[in-house]
Amino acid sequence: MAKEKGLTPQSQDFSEWYLEVIQRAELADYGPVRGTVVVRPYGYAIWENIQGVLDRMFKETGHQNAYFPLFIPMSFLKKEAEHVEGFSPELAVVTHAGGEELEEPLAVRPTSETVIGYMWSRWIKSYRDLPQLLNQWGNVVRWELRTRPFLRTSEFLWQEGHTAHATKEEAEEEVRRMLAIYAKLAREHAAIPVIEGLKTEKEKFAGAVYTTTIEAMMRDGKALQSGTSHYLGENFARAFGIKFQDKDLEVKYVHTTSWGLSWRFLGAIIMTHGDDRGLILPPRLAPIQVVLVPIYKEESRERVLEAAFGLKKALSARGLRVHLDDRDQYTPGYKFHEWELKGVPFRVELGPKDLEGGQAVLASRLGGKEPLPLAALPEVLPERLDAFHQALYQRALDFRESRTRKVDGYEALKEAVQEGFALAFHCGDKACERLIQEETTATVRCVPFEGEEGTGACVRCGRPGAYGKRVVFAKAY
Ligand SMILES: [Zn+2]
Repeated sequence: MAKEKGLTPQSQDFSEWYLEVIQRAELADYGPVRGTVVVRPYGYAIWENIQGVLDRMFKETGHQNAYFPLFIPMSFLKKEAEHVEGFSPELAVVTHAGGEELEEPLAVRPTSETVIGYMWSRWIKSYRDLPQLLNQWGNVVRWELRTRPFLRTSEFLWQEGHTAHATKEEAEEEVRRMLAIYAKLAREHAAIPVIEGLKTEKEKFAGAVYTTTIEAMMRDGKALQSGTSHYLGENFARAFGIKFQDKDLEVKYVHTTSWGLSWRFLGAIIMTHGDDRGLILPPRLAPIQVVLVPIYKEESRERVLEAAFGLKKALSARGLRVHLDDRDQYTPGYKFHEWELKGVPFRVELGPKDLEGGQAVLASRLGGKEPLPLAALPEVLPERLDAFHQALYQRALDFRESRTRKVDGYEALKEAVQEGFALAFHCGDKACERLIQEETTATVRCVPFEGEEGTGACVRCGRPGAYGKRVVFAKAY
């Protein structure tokens, strides 16, 4: 692979930069079937770290993992009217199997509310069977013609949580609890500042009463929906007959929720932090936090490598994810370039002169180099990784704030969404929202929970704002 040529600069063509960095950092490649991608080991390792963090938080909040079938009878999807309408255009359907035409076509799951709803209708009889707190790690298929690795692919990996509760209050509490977990993953692990909020009626999940979301700003000013949590009310319970006998002996429908986060989140990490030299990975999710690059000539080779192995051992013992790049066939300069492209937070350079002085050079992916005593590195690096995380978060937050504007007129909105987020009042009317999308390609990303209270006229039609606060408009992935 040609690594000599630099990446296309972000400012020149962000989209091209994104595709190039994914290929050259060996995160993913295109599959033979249009719309599919292959996730390569380095990309998959990041996904595994995301999984690890989420899985732990899901279990800490009482959820258990389960697995439901990939194939869903078409009749199931038709039971919830909005749901089938929302997903039909992108369904993949199996009509033949085992050399025969099937009696009933099978949808390859686009999401699992229906099949889980069906099973719950058999499992849930009494208030004693509630709540049901399930999560599934798996793949889903939504047919896409335009491929963009991690953002738009026919098949993608995700987790989908599904819960059933006796009351509306409990279900709504669950919706917010899980959104908070996604926000925590973003802020505390991925160093991504996110805005938590409510989707408008137009943008909500097909079949939901309402949808909550976390939205992040990418370095081209566009938004990326990074995780969603839905209150489904009794919609799926009525469609699938999920009823229970309550303590008061009355038979009631359950209230359900669902929430999902996909490998889109990897796209968010790439586009929130990366720069013209490549990826910058948040240390808490990076497969490699520190790379050791020994620098030697033939006569110093043994000495330098021995010290490098010793340092690797000491850092691993501190729980750090360390890689020693001892490949003989590449120059140190080549290695520096490659690990920068792959976004490794810290590089330790070890040369014969450094060793004589009992030190090494620590280089940060955010810039800056400093000599440090070798013996101090196991102590110092965990602190430096935390500081790196904070700096990365602050950098992303500063960027978002510098590209967010309060606007009151339509022309100002059109201008602001070229750069980033526009905070404006909206009347809440779907038709008005659709026109704004047609005319500006921007959509309402969310009604932010933390938004400052206030009223004003709709940015397009002048009718009174519907939400008691400004909403976030942006172009989005
Ligand atoms: Zn309006």
